Amino acid sequence: MADSVEEVRARLRSVPKVDALAQDAGLALHRRRFGEAATTRAAREVAARIRNGILEGGVAPSHAEAVATVAQVLDALATARLRRVINATGVVLHTNLGRAPLSEAAVSAAAEAGRGYEALELDLGTGGRGARAGYLERTLAELCGAEASLVVNNNAAAMLLALTALAAGKGVVVSRGELVEIGGGFRIPEVLQRSGARMIEVGTTNRTRLSDYQRALDEHRDVGAILSVHPGNFRITGFTEHPRLDALARLADERGVWLVDDLGGGALVDLSELAGLAGEPVVRDRVAAGAHVVCFSCDKVLGGPQGGALVGREDALLTIRRDPLARALRLGSLPAAALEATLDHYRLGELDAIPALAMMRRPVDEVRARVERWRECLVLEGAALTIEDVEGRVGGGTFAEEPVPSVALGVRSEQLGADEVARRLRSGPLPVLVRVAEDRVLVDGRTVLAGEDDAVLEALRRAFSRTT
Ligand SMILES: *Cc1c(COP(=O)(O)O)cnc(C)c1O
Repeated sequence: MADSVEEVRARLRSVPKVDALAQDAGLALHRRRFGEAATTRAAREVAARIRNGILEGGVAPSHAEAVATVAQVLDALATARLRRVINATGVVLHTNLGRAPLSEAAVSAAAEAGRGYEALELDLGTGGRGARAGYLERTLAELCGAEASLVVNNNAAAMLLALTALAAGKGVVVSRGELVEIGGGFRIPEVLQRSGARMIEVGTTNRTRLSDYQRALDEHRDVGAILSVHPGNFRITGFTEHPRLDALARLADERGVWLVDDLGGGALVDLSELAGLAGEPVVRDRVAAGAHVVCFSCDKVLGGPQGGALVGREDALLTIRRDPLARALRLGSLPAAALEATLDHYRLGELDAIPALAMMRRPVDEVRARVERWRECLVLEGAALTIEDVEGRVGGGTFAEEPVPSVALGVRSEQLGADEVARRLRSGPLPVLVRVAEDRVLVDGRTVLAGEDDAVLEALRRAFSRTT
């Protein structure tokens, strides 16, 4: 039976006033933490919800309930904040967790850059205007064996900039086997289109020959560049063929077009030697093979902050630097400072100072010993603990998602599903991210940083203390 108009009106009058809600003493902490404006906004949202509920036939909650709902709305806002977490997923470069953690020196450099003024575009020798990131770009070029370099916001920006500056309004020849999506919606055909270049596809998904590129260059008079893409997290196996980069470079030089190499990863050292991880091309080799511009991320296997690098020939880099897009995509001074410090580690051979590299090369026995220590320290009521050999990954779209042998603590609850255990581990003061494997969670010992062990144990104890 429908309520009478009077009844509904009476109930609507009982909806708490926004100000009364927002100013309730029970929300004092929230007002201090989130500010008056956000608290009022949350109160307005809750009051509107209550009003709509009444119009749909519901009843108004008590004032105390409404206050609690406002608190919940604000708390939910807080979970969307950037927050430090512990990565126990076994994926070293986890895109959702900000990829590479920085070295102590890189963190200090960024903090220092943020705290004070810095000689960003100033030559301290002459006192006149200097090149932005001059030292950084010189170091980067040296480490890559390249004539010049430029740093921008990320590799997607590097690619967009290179293609725009070198090939807008012209054709770009690319193999059908390389028209990939990298992840996070970065699709080669779409970036090409956005750059104003026209895509000229050659070959087939599995086989592209040098003659395919030659024919395209014969047929199309307006080609600006050949694009090569390293399809990191995607692999075509079996009956495949693709010309070597040096053959493409010779062709590009003969025909007077640019060769742009989208490498993605950005290994500055040979990771097969360093960490037994095969298959990741080294930037220096791509430059030596004759690519005119090589683009890569600074926060993948390089182990630095978010950033994109373009390295290669002086004339190509000069053209790119002059494009107005270069100004729009330039790297901020804080990541530039962190990147500079990261590159110093390479220059000085301090590779273990770079956390991502240290994690990739940590011997599996060391990981096992750590996980065994965790088990020895833990008594979790209602949980079965196991030491498990697992496969981690480097991640970040590198190494074709090749597994990295690792060891994890398997935690199986007698009462809780694995998803619930994972949720509890995420909901503590320092969230711990784990993998879920059927009936248990896997707490991987490879990607937990030095000094985070106690926090992992604490999170596990907390997750299980609530079941009893
Ligand atoms: C990762 C990747 C990108 C995108 O790099 P971001 O730094 O994430 O912008 C582009 N191309 C390739 C081949 C990649 O692997």
